[in-house]
Amino acid sequence: MDYGKGFYCRICGYFDKEEPPWGEDGETPNHEMCVCCGIEFGLEDIGGLEHIISIREHWLTKMKGKWQSSFFGPPEDWDLEQQLKQIPKEFQGPDDLKIYAQLKAKKSR
Ligand SMILES: [Zn+2]
Repeated sequence: MDYGKGFYCRICGYFDKEEPPWGEDGETPNHEMCVCCGIEFGLEDIGGLEHIISIREHWLTKMKGKWQSSFFGPPEDWDLEQQLKQIPKEFQGPDDLKIYAQLKAKKSR
């Protein structure tokens, strides 16, 4: 099956097959919290690309790209870089991976 953009978090790219953040049609937010970046679908991931990019940047820099849910841990093979690449195209920022690379560099220091 080919999953649509509704299955991915617009901020962090997290994929949820069971409860697609924006519904199977990509237009019906379920108003859950993203287990990964902690935003509320349909509330914090709307309002234009610039806003979405700034939320993502805040999560990656100020919150250090940390997994947010304490109920569900990240997958064992969690690969944030890979996940950022699956953000639906229209919501990607030009510097997403650059910001991630800086975060990674800081962590390994
Ligand atoms: Zn997210």
